[in-house]
Amino acid sequence: MVQKPKRKCAACGSILEVIGSKALCKNPECSGGGVFTLCEFCGDYSLSLKFRYCVNQNCRLYKMRRDVCPICNSQKLITYKGRPICMNPSCISNRKGLSDCFFCGDETFLKVSVAMFCVNPSCAHLLERVVECFHCGQLSFVESAGCCENGDCAFYKVRMVLCKSCGRMTKVAGKDHPQYGRCSNPDCGDYFLQSDRQDEEATTTSSGRRLCGDTVAIPIETLHSASAEQEEIFVGEVKEQGQAQEKSSNDLTPVLRIEVVGDALAWLKDELRRRGLSSVIRVRVEFAEPDDDWADGLDKVK
Ligand SMILES: [Zn+2]
Ligand SMILES: [Zn+2]
Ligand SMILES: [Zn+2]
Ligand SMILES: [Zn+2]
Ligand SMILES: [Zn+2]
Ligand SMILES: [Zn+2]
Repeated sequence: MVQKPKRKCAACGSILEVIGSKALCKNPECSGGGVFTLCEFCGDYSLSLKFRYCVNQNCRLYKMRRDVCPICNSQKLITYKGRPICMNPSCISNRKGLSDCFFCGDETFLKVSVAMFCVNPSCAHLLERVVECFHCGQLSFVESAGCCENGDCAFYKVRMVLCKSCGRMTKVAGKDHPQYGRCSNPDCGDYFLQSDRQDEEATTTSSGRRLCGDTVAIPIETLHSASAEQEEIFVGEVKEQGQAQEKSSNDLTPVLRIEVVGDALAWLKDELRRRGLSSVIRVRVEFAEPDDDWADGLDKVK
């Protein structure tokens, strides 16, 4: 008989003897119950038959009770929030809910409401509840951390809590974030840009579209109307612009405001952040007859 290097019991440290698929601890008082099988998660003979959990402290399923799955017969059935869930991704019980894990890339994510976690033993987020991020749409919002861990997300690692106003996980909870305490859902009444819009009264009436620093003007078809009204839409923290006031002579013109808080702008802001630019967006819509003033404006564009 070939003598294998001596194994030690993960529970009590005594010598462990492997016989077939089992391992017996030499210590009759073994705290782990004395009889073990191979733990598929840590690779040690540390799955106690008595307690039905792994006694290896370094195992990611340490002391998590595992039963035999009645469907696939693997010893990977865990009880999660009172429900039995088989951690074997190829088990028929998981056939429908299986999806690609955002973090490890394997098709080991149990995308069913009772689970919502990855069962890949080598995944960094094994058994951690992950839900779809409101902002990037990926399965990357780690519930225990309270933030999205997708490096490409506009709200990467910004802590979020449930917004009472809209019921989404979009209220900024990261204290160092400029929008701390406000909601990041553009459709929410507590959306953080709402207050910014109120702060910035529309005072600029100069025409033309400009690109000032990282302020992006979206080219929008000029709308003509009988009146010479001018409308401005501000989204984001619009910075002071020196020459912006120069043409505000028509004080009598009623200034209308349009609030555009749609998906297109949210998307654009995300794109800007992704490129490391400020997410300031200025949209200018002008209602004017193509008179001399307008021609002046056009000259400025060039
Ligand atoms: Zn032992
Ligand atoms: Zn283990
Ligand atoms: Zn199973
Ligand atoms: Zn994974
Ligand atoms: Zn995200
Ligand atoms: Zn909200």
